Amino acid sequence: MSPVSPTLNAARRERDLRALGDTPDVDVVVIGGGVTGVGVALDAAARGLSTVLVERADFAFGTSRWSSKLVHGGLRYLASGRVGIAHESAVERGILFGNAPHLVRALPQVVPLVPEVNGAQAALIRAGFAAGDALRVAARTSSSTLPRSRRIAPAETLRLAPTVRRAGLRGGLQAWDGQLVDDARLVVALARTAAGAGATVLTRVEAVAADGNSVQLRDTMTGETLSVAARAVINATGVWAGEVDGSIELRPSRGTHLVFDAAAFGGLNASLTVPVAGSIGRFVFAFPAAHGRVYLGLTDEDAPGPIPDEPMPTESEIDFLLDTINTVLREPLTRADIRGRFAGLRPLLKTADDSTADISREHAILRSPNGLLTVVGGKLTTYRRMAEDAVDAAVAGAGLAAGPCRTAALPLVGAVAGADRDAIDAPAVLIDRYGTDAREIVELWSTDPSSREAVAPGIDVTAAEFTFAVTNELATTVDDLLDRRTRIGLVREDREAAVPAAEKAIARQD
Ligand SMILES: Cc1cc2nc3c(=O)[nH]c(=O)nc-3n(C[C@H](O)[C@H](O)[C@H](O)COP(=O)(O)OP(=O)(O)OC[C@H]3O[C@@H](n4cnc5c(N)ncnc54)[C@H](O)[C@@H]3O)c2cc1C
Repeated sequence: MSPVSPTLNAARRERDLRALGDTPDVDVVVIGGGVTGVGVALDAAARGLSTVLVERADFAFGTSRWSSKLVHGGLRYLASGRVGIAHESAVERGILFGNAPHLVRALPQVVPLVPEVNGAQAALIRAGFAAGDALRVAARTSSSTLPRSRRIAPAETLRLAPTVRRAGLRGGLQAWDGQLVDDARLVVALARTAAGAGATVLTRVEAVAADGNSVQLRDTMTGETLSVAARAVINATGVWAGEVDGSIELRPSRGTHLVFDAAAFGGLNASLTVPVAGSIGRFVFAFPAAHGRVYLGLTDEDAPGPIPDEPMPTESEIDFLLDTINTVLREPLTRADIRGRFAGLRPLLKTADDSTADISREHAILRSPNGLLTVVGGKLTTYRRMAEDAVDAAVAGAGLAAGPCRTAALPLVGAVAGADRDAIDAPAVLIDRYGTDAREIVELWSTDPSSREAVAPGIDVTAAEFTFAVTNELATTVDDLLDRRTRIGLVREDREAAVPAAEKAIARQD
């Protein structure tokens, strides 16, 4: 059963801010509205703690919208012997399949066995996939959720990845992992679920100063400031963690993706996974994504220096991605095929040896001398466990009266699967994005038939979805609609075409 659908919007934000001004005293303040912060707010509120989350821009404004959108089983960590983190990933993947079945799906990965992949390499990859199966079994995720890995014939390889080179193709190696409909949509669903559990969730409110028991807030829309007292303050600002707590040192690493039309990959039905020449356990992969696109990733580059709002891919990263994927394609892709590009910074803790490519992906809970807690590192897949550990630390540190963590069995807003999902009278693409709330979009279509129109030619988003984002998902700007509630903004031409519909939806709220 999914929880009641909470409505987050500008009017509620106003009311909530006013109420906080009247009683500026809570159990927990969470700073940062990425996947980690909204996960922490949900965990704290679900334990019965009075909780406020502040995000200075919009939900998923930072790294959480630039990910590969995979819910990993942790195979990559197993390859480097980190069994604990691999197991944790696999367990959390299974939990997310249970709590947000509308947002996560099983994604086949296929490594085409072209002549460049020799027998020894293939055997190594096969062994890795078998280890992934063992991880899944150990995490108690059934093979009906994620099937067992296997070797597949050339015809099946080409069915999954039609543009792969046929000459010399010996077949493929196939494994399965989890894929999110979209990472920003997970963040929005978590924020709404947290609000439903009682948290006050505020965007466009910046923490300008914080310690273990107080936060200075600034409403970035009005400039007004407010001081809030808290039993515990949790810094979940990702790559910006060091700005909120000067004792934190991060070593961000940039990951880049390119965006293509699905047609450039002939209607890809899997994650086309290609070993990187000269390295073991490193892959480039192309996978189907929202709005009829394919994303191709991923790089891992040291990114020291100031943290930009929007990190930019470099030319050499683009060359690397194209060169690697082209090793298995019949017709090489060129820069002319690229429709968009994006890059994100991994919030990685600095390690003793200062390495980057294999820097620790584990998360950490750190307590500053002034009592401020920071939760950092980790990844999207393990957000729930990070939140549990952070709230456990807050409860223990401040002696809060709180119940046990409840999130392992707490469905997110919209959660629906099986026969209940089949009973929803709405297009599958809407159920994937909104779960049970797809009914509300369909309802909008019937009350206002013009809201069924696409927001731009060829885009699979209707005007009703923009309306819903404004009334229920706290979208307050055109950018919120184009860049985070949907991912239309990743292709510049689409973005420009959809701006008028987005402006109309925003104007209607005023
Ligand atoms: C390229 C790439 C691919 C990835 N792929 C995957 C993947 O496929 N699967 C996976 O599991 N993980 C993946 N990850 C990792 C994952 O995306 C991150 O670990 C995760 O998104 C980090 O979330 P966060 O909430 O900690 O940080 P963020 O999402 O960056 O959130 C921090 C938030 O804090 C806000 N903020 C900052 N300062 C303040 C302030 N003073 N006051 C209020 N708010 C503030 C920011 O605006 C921001 O919204 C990937 C990462 C990258 C870079």
